[in-house]
Amino acid sequence: MTPKSALVAHLRINLLYLAGGTETKGLDRIYDRMTTTADNFDREHLWHPYTSTTNPLPVYKADRAEGCEIILEDGRRLIDGMSSWWCAIHGYNHPVLNAAAQAQLQKMSHVMFGGLTHGPAIELGRLLLKIAPPSMNKIFYADSGSVAVEVAMKMAVQYQYSTGHPEKTNFVTIRRGYHGDTWNAMSVCDPVTGMHSLFGSALPVRFFVPSPSSRFGGEWNSEDIRPLQEILETHHGEIAALILEPIVQGAGGMWFYHPEYLRQAARLCREYGILLIFDEIATGFGRTGKLFAWEHAGVEPDIMCIGKALTGGYMTFSAALASDKVANGISDNYPHAFMHGPTFMGNPLACAVAKASTELLLSQDWKVRIRTIEDQLRHELSPAAAFKSVNDVRVLGAIGVIEVREPVDMAFMQRRFVEEGVWVRPFGRLVYVMPPYIITPEQLSRLTSALVKIVGELQAK
Ligand SMILES: *Cc1c(COP(=O)(O)O)cnc(C)c1O
Repeated sequence: MTPKSALVAHLRINLLYLAGGTETKGLDRIYDRMTTTADNFDREHLWHPYTSTTNPLPVYKADRAEGCEIILEDGRRLIDGMSSWWCAIHGYNHPVLNAAAQAQLQKMSHVMFGGLTHGPAIELGRLLLKIAPPSMNKIFYADSGSVAVEVAMKMAVQYQYSTGHPEKTNFVTIRRGYHGDTWNAMSVCDPVTGMHSLFGSALPVRFFVPSPSSRFGGEWNSEDIRPLQEILETHHGEIAALILEPIVQGAGGMWFYHPEYLRQAARLCREYGILLIFDEIATGFGRTGKLFAWEHAGVEPDIMCIGKALTGGYMTFSAALASDKVANGISDNYPHAFMHGPTFMGNPLACAVAKASTELLLSQDWKVRIRTIEDQLRHELSPAAAFKSVNDVRVLGAIGVIEVREPVDMAFMQRRFVEEGVWVRPFGRLVYVMPPYIITPEQLSRLTSALVKIVGELQAK
């Protein structure tokens, strides 16, 4: 029997049972499985991020992606405004990155990093140290952004333990942050948008101070640093590190703040023996107009997390970079070893693609490219500032944000964006884009005009 005729035979049997009113629960299930389209399967069995399984937000079926476009199964082409959450900086299906992945596949896609090392890990490491803050000198490869944050937080606690401060185990951070969805990463996310109340006492309780109100490019308000100063004065004895996203707070609020905050915070950290962790997972690799956002302030961290665009969006990969002070503090004292070791640590395939992606970025005049995108975003999004429904329009590097007054209906807006031929996924009161750097001025104009048009429809509603 061919697969098709087998299917038909099964269906017929099931239909007979149904017609006869026989108890057919098990068979019903088989029937359902066989008749569901792929899309129904997704709806019934696949869990998507931040949504319900019983009443999920709609999904669109992507068939492939090329350059700056995502092509849906029905043939519609969408201009990508999200870079698949900050990652695909060179766009999709890039010949250079494809070639790097294919070449590495022919040699080995993975070997364990315990007791073995390999060329891709070493070559990527060399490259990363050239572009990281000068004080970064040790690299811990990890699997995803959240894991890099976990690693950074463990490093901070182990550093304090090993250097004679075992009581310094907690963390301080600023509100509106986002650091990932694993346990400790979540504990330093904004307590409201991170839904801390949901997890109750299962979640470690951190120290939170308000996010700086002084804007990037605006006046510095010296009051902004006061809450951090007060917390550190009182609680420095229990705090291992301050963790924050430098300059751009991403998924927690898309807020761009004044570099002076980082300079003052770094001074306080030094004064109180607290490590400074920069989470550059979203801001890294040129997105804010600098290769990494710390450069806006000239302040170096003790530990820095990178991820997302590290592989140009090809696969999950991240790293926690550390200064010699941190690495030696841990390694020169009992128990000497840093207690972490992901199975896929230093994955050769990811290292090879990350190296190709970083070289590709550095081989072009990326600063001019980002500046061009920034100027165009600023110019073309500015009309939205006049809308009654809009609270603020802000642009930094290749990031454009329209903050509206009321939380948006995500499903409705996403459908409208798809109808306009663009891929934009708003959340809360934020409608924003961070396109691949390869986007052409024409494509970017289609993106910005869709944004302005659809945000404009909000006030009519
Ligand atoms: C996305 C993100 C993370 C988490 O990275 P995952 O790869 O999703 O685990 C952490 N920090 C920041 C700033 C991020 O934007």
